[in-house]
Amino acid sequence: VDHLTKTYQSAGQTLTVLHDVSFDLQAGDSFAIVGPSGSGKTTLLGLCAGLDRASSGSVWLNGVQLDNLNEDQRAAVRNQHVGFIFQNFQLLPTLTALENVMVPLELRGTRGAERIARDLLGRVGLADRSHHYPLQLSGGEQQRVSLARAFSNRPAILFADEPTGNLDEDTSITVENLLFDLNREAGTTLVIVTHDLELAAKTQRMIRIRGGHVVEERGNGEKEEGGKGERRMEKS
Ligand code: ATP
Repeated sequence: VDHLTKTYQSAGQTLTVLHDVSFDLQAGDSFAIVGPSGSGKTTLLGLCAGLDRASSGSVWLNGVQLDNLNEDQRAAVRNQHVGFIFQNFQLLPTLTALENVMVPLELRGTRGAERIARDLLGRVGLADRSHHYPLQLSGGEQQRVSLARAFSNRPAILFADEPTGNLDEDTSITVENLLFDLNREAGTTLVIVTHDLELAAKTQRMIRIRGGHVVEERGNGEKEEGGKGERRMEKS
């Protein structure tokens, strides 16, 4: 991520929400982006994943400069390399849990999509919910379906926006374990936006952004001290 700036035009005004953000990740890293509400975390994640384009600066993913690609080409890169867990899950409401997990597999023409999707739902503890529609699932269950869907293509890099937001502590731990298992076992690079400082402390590297500026960077194996007992949440 090289000197990334993002501006929005809103009510005739130019709003700069990211200012000159740069960092680089190695394959297999786990990386957290923390910062108060409105600081630009989701915007940054979307740019890194090729969901949106920067106003200036560039994003390189596996040697491909995303900024030079049109929307179709960026979608192809996403299908090939990227998994994304959205803050509000974004499951397709007319498809069952199983069908939602199968979508990326079918887009890629993967053989045995249903079997793979069933296995994944089993891994996230939802084998018995595979025929439920999103509205018939709890928030935590929807989050786990979203996780299974993001894993399904065995992405090189997984972007997760508040993956444990709004989950109870037990479900948060399940989701966290799934993410870090994937990082350790499959070498998937993790990029996690979170308010949960305990989750951020478990990643190898972290940046904190405020008002669209990187104000703190931690990395290269250092760990922030995680609090015991109640999870520490960043103030908004
Ligand atoms: P939260 O923790 O509350 O999810 P965030 O750090 O992820 O917040 P972003 O969603 O990246 O913050 O938003 C950063 C800023 O950009 C906010 O002030 C928001 O109002 C503004 N913003 C986001 N999307 C747009 C848009 N499409 N048009 C105009 N402004 C936008």
